[in-house]
Amino acid sequence: MSEPKKLYIKTYGCQMNVYDSERMSEALGGQGYVETQSPEDADMILLNTCHIREKAAEKVYSELGRFKGLKAEKPDLKIGVAGCVAQAEGEEIMRRQPLVDLVVGPQSYHRLPELEAKARAGEKALDTDFPEEDKFEKLKNRPKAKRGPTAFLTVQEGCDKFCAFCVVPYTRGAEVSRPADRILREAQDLVERGVREITLLGQNVNAYHGAGPDGDMTLAGLIWELNKIDGLERIRFTTSHPNDMTDDLIEAHGTCEKLMPYLHLPVQSGSDKILKRMNRSHTAESYLRLIERIREARPDILMSGDFIVGFPEETEEDFQATLDLVEQVRYGYAYSFKYSIRPGTPAAERPQVDPQEADDRLQRLQALITRHQREIQDAMVGRTVRVLFEKPGRLAGQMVGKSEYLHAVHVSGADLSAGDLRNVRITASGANSLAGEVL
Ligand code: SAM
Ligand code: SF4
Repeated sequence: MSEPKKLYIKTYGCQMNVYDSERMSEALGGQGYVETQSPEDADMILLNTCHIREKAAEKVYSELGRFKGLKAEKPDLKIGVAGCVAQAEGEEIMRRQPLVDLVVGPQSYHRLPELEAKARAGEKALDTDFPEEDKFEKLKNRPKAKRGPTAFLTVQEGCDKFCAFCVVPYTRGAEVSRPADRILREAQDLVERGVREITLLGQNVNAYHGAGPDGDMTLAGLIWELNKIDGLERIRFTTSHPNDMTDDLIEAHGTCEKLMPYLHLPVQSGSDKILKRMNRSHTAESYLRLIERIREARPDILMSGDFIVGFPEETEEDFQATLDLVEQVRYGYAYSFKYSIRPGTPAAERPQVDPQEADDRLQRLQALITRHQREIQDAMVGRTVRVLFEKPGRLAGQMVGKSEYLHAVHVSGADLSAGDLRNVRITASGANSLAGEVL
């Protein structure tokens, strides 16, 4: 029997890329590849890239440069670039970095086996099409290997919102939802392989409108269907857009027992002037009202969000409005970024904020978010949460899992295995995690 070929995949960016990397690995599994954690062992290196901010693309080019020595030692080594940088830069990648053999955009992963064969035959292989067929359906079925207790499942891709700063509509294409029956089949399969928590993924996951038995299904409808699967204990979804937070989804947060009390709902800015220029089509006030309604449905929900500071023409007053909004919402988590120019997007052409001023704002915003995050986490001490244990911790006899609010929780000295779901009394709050004891 011939030795299996080895595949090394490095994943950048969002959770959708994590999911895509799993599926690519499975597709190449059909070509006799097994995954390796070391690029030195690999017969194929794939970088699954992110294009959301400028530095991410630069990191890919510098990472590729590092493989020069490996390729010289091992001429049969094939190097591929997948993901959004591949989609956006296409042939430019091969021009700029001749050691790349294969470039594949996020909508063409099901064609990887053919692309790999072409690269093996010594040709350059490139596919950045937006084909009609459903790549998930075309990808090889997941092998029936046992899985950890948590998994991602992409239900929707692409975006039609065209926020003025964002490349996603260009790199991931138009908004598309997968049919409900395929998602439910995949979820059932994951559960049979040991998964107890599924996070539904989409660039605009709450805009989901996949074909169901009686016409299009909403995300809430899909969640209620998933709720019926025996053995599936928890459902999460990310990332949502405020304008797509429908009444049935808000209601599900109050009534659907498997839907976890955590919601990532990016707002980007607290200034209406900036929101308008970002083409966000919601205001700070409408966002705050929405959160009020969500909290009425599920009072303990932990909110999370995304922010961009230093967007073109953002003044100190606009930035203060963002701080005010953060004060009102009090996020349990939030991700904040300095605006990064993305060529081809409308905001790239506008007057830019002084980079030092933007840095200063980012630090102030992050300090406020971190304070709230810490206060919310500290307030968990003394409470009982339900933890899904995922893996051993760094200390001997320690296990780590996630609470319903997505806080990491460490427990020592209890007889626990990955996949156990237990009530835990929180006894301490550390820098980024909680500690507790099983009840
Ligand atoms: N669809 C989601 C939404 O509307 O909130 C988010 C998608 S995007 C992959 C994730 C986050 O990256 C955005 O919420 C935004 O905060 C950030 N982002 C996108 N483009 C950016 C840019 N040009 N500069 C800085 N941050 C950016
Ligand atoms: Fe990008 Fe999200 Fe706006 Fe779509 S809704 S353009 S993915 S930030």
